[in-house]
Amino acid sequence: MKEVLRFAASRGIGDFRLIAVEQISIEDQLRDLCENPRCPSFASSINCPPYEMTPAQFRNHVQAFSQVLAFKFDFPVEAMREEGRNQAGRLLHETTAAIEHKAKAQGFERACGYSSGGCKNTLCFEHDECAALAEDGQCRHPDLARPSLSGMGVNWHKLSKTLGWSMIKNEAGEANPDAETVMMAGLVFLA
Ligand code: SF4
Repeated sequence: MKEVLRFAASRGIGDFRLIAVEQISIEDQLRDLCENPRCPSFASSINCPPYEMTPAQFRNHVQAFSQVLAFKFDFPVEAMREEGRNQAGRLLHETTAAIEHKAKAQGFERACGYSSGGCKNTLCFEHDECAALAEDGQCRHPDLARPSLSGMGVNWHKLSKTLGWSMIKNEAGEANPDAETVMMAGLVFLA
């Protein structure tokens, strides 16, 4: 575990914590928000609804784990416009995958990393479609692309409050006009 934490610390992330699976709230109604009001990432790749795990499936899946490495980046608001947002999303997917690979190498053979936001607008923004959604298609970035936690119903507001992390939007979806940073976070489940 020490090696995994040391590796996470070396990735330039804003903060990371080792938490219990029970601290993560997975809620059906949050997945519904992907569809109504419709998120631009909805149905854009296999890693967003309706193609990724449902909240019920994800709740069942995480029962096989006890510990989770939660980590976040805080990007300056001005860096999160258009291309900058894509680059930030790519960094998040890369970091999630890198921590997952490190955990596996350190003996957490079933480690699973999950990211925030969809991979279509970050890893495949220059393509018209998700290659994995094409018939018999394969993901262009299987080593990097990870499913979206929000799309599986993870309540980031609850978790952020528990961890003392601040989000730019409140639970009603209103942005804080005074916020200077935008948080993007991931979870790596360890077992
Ligand atoms: S092909 Fe691109 S959009 Fe589709 S799952 Fe892979 S990374 Fe995501």
